[in-house]
Amino acid sequence: MNLRFLGGAREVGRSALLVNERLLVDFGTLTANPPQFPVETPDPEAVVVSHGHLDHVGMLPALLSGTGRPPVHWTPPTYELAMTLAKDTLKLHGGTYNCPFTETELRRLTQVSETHGYGGSESFSAAGHEVTFFNAGHIPGSAHVLIDDGETRLLYTGDFHTDDQRLVAGTTARPDADLVICESTYADVEHEPRARVEKRFAESVTTTLWEGGTVIVPAFAIGRTQELMCICAAHDIPCYVDGMGTRVTEMLRRYPTFLRDGEAFKRAISHARVVTGRDGQRKRIVDQQAAIITTSGMLSGGPAMSYIPEIRANPTNKITMTGYQVEGTPGRQLLETGSAEIDGQIMPISAQVEQYDFSAHADRTGLLEFLESYRETPLLINHGDRCEAFAEELREKGYEARAPELGISLEV
Ligand SMILES: [Zn+2]
Repeated sequence: MNLRFLGGAREVGRSALLVNERLLVDFGTLTANPPQFPVETPDPEAVVVSHGHLDHVGMLPALLSGTGRPPVHWTPPTYELAMTLAKDTLKLHGGTYNCPFTETELRRLTQVSETHGYGGSESFSAAGHEVTFFNAGHIPGSAHVLIDDGETRLLYTGDFHTDDQRLVAGTTARPDADLVICESTYADVEHEPRARVEKRFAESVTTTLWEGGTVIVPAFAIGRTQELMCICAAHDIPCYVDGMGTRVTEMLRRYPTFLRDGEAFKRAISHARVVTGRDGQRKRIVDQQAAIITTSGMLSGGPAMSYIPEIRANPTNKITMTGYQVEGTPGRQLLETGSAEIDGQIMPISAQVEQYDFSAHADRTGLLEFLESYRETPLLINHGDRCEAFAEELREKGYEARAPELGISLEV
C-alpha cells in the first residue's frame, strides 16, 4: 500500500491522505489567516470522508472543479455537515482566496455523494478498495475508516473519543488492521472527567441565573451546541440556542440512529428556545435569566458578537467558553486579558468569564487505551501538534510508531 500525506501530518488541520494514488481520505482546510490547504490537489478515483469538520472536509468541493467526478463516500450526517459548512464558506468568503470553489462545485457534490452507515454489513467498494466505517464517537456521523486494498488493511482513526458524550457514544470498535494511522490532538492532555465538568458547568450557570444574571455560552455549531443543549435539558437550565448550531440541530434530528440517545436529543430540542434574531429578539432576551448557547465558539463571528456587548458591563453576568480557543481569536484574548475585540473595538468585560473542557477528542489516557488493542500493529501518528514526541513515547512503550512528515510518500 502506498500512502501520501497531503495534510494533517505533524499538524492539526487540512487533513488529506492519498491511498495507492487512487483513493483520497479527507480533504480539509487549516483555519488560519489566510487558510491553508492540502499541499496538492489530487485527481482521485474516489473519496472517503471521516467526519464533517472543516479541517476534514473544507476543501472537498474544490476536487470537482475539473472534469473528474469521483464518488464521495461518507455517512449521511457527514454529508449534510459538509454541505452546511461549504455553503457557509461560500456565503462568508465566496469569490476570494479563502473559498476555492463556487456554487457549481457544490451542486456537483450533491451528485457524487454516496452515503453509508457503520459496520461490516455496510462495507462498500471505493476505487478498488473495500471500505468500512465504524462509529468514532467524536461528533454525529464521525467514522473510523478501515481500508482494505486486498493486501493491507489500514485503519484511519479520524478524530475520535473513547468516552461517552451526551450526544454520541464513545468508540468501542477495534477492527483488525495491519496498520493504524492515529490522531493525537490531545496526546499530552488529561481531560477532567466529563461528569465533573458538566456538574461544575451546571452549578455555575444555575448560580448566575439565581443571582439574576444571564449566561452567554459560546459554542461550536457542530456537536458542541447540541451537547450543551442536552446538558441544559438534563439539568433543567432554561436556555436559548442561536446561530448556525440551530440549523445543525434541525438536521441531526433526522438522524437519531447516529446519536447516543435520539429521545434525549428530542427532549433537549423541546427544552431549548430557538432564537431567530427577528424584531430585536436578541436585545430582548439578554436580561431573561437564561443561558444563551450561540456561535461562534471562539467569539470570532456569529450572534455571540451581538450578545457580548449587551451583557459585558454587569459582573452578575457570565460568559462560559466551552471549547479550545485558538491563539489570535477574541475568545483566547478574553481568557488571557479580560477584554475582547468585538467588531473592531476592544471591549473590557466586567462579566465573569469561565472556561470548560467539553472536548470531543480522546485525551492521553483515551489514546493509549485505544492503542492498547494495536500492540502488535505498526502505528503512524498524525493530526497533532507534537506527533513526533508522541510517536517517540509509544516506541518507548514497545510500539512500532512514527510520525510521517507532511508531503511524504510511504510504501507500507
Ligand atoms: Zn473533528
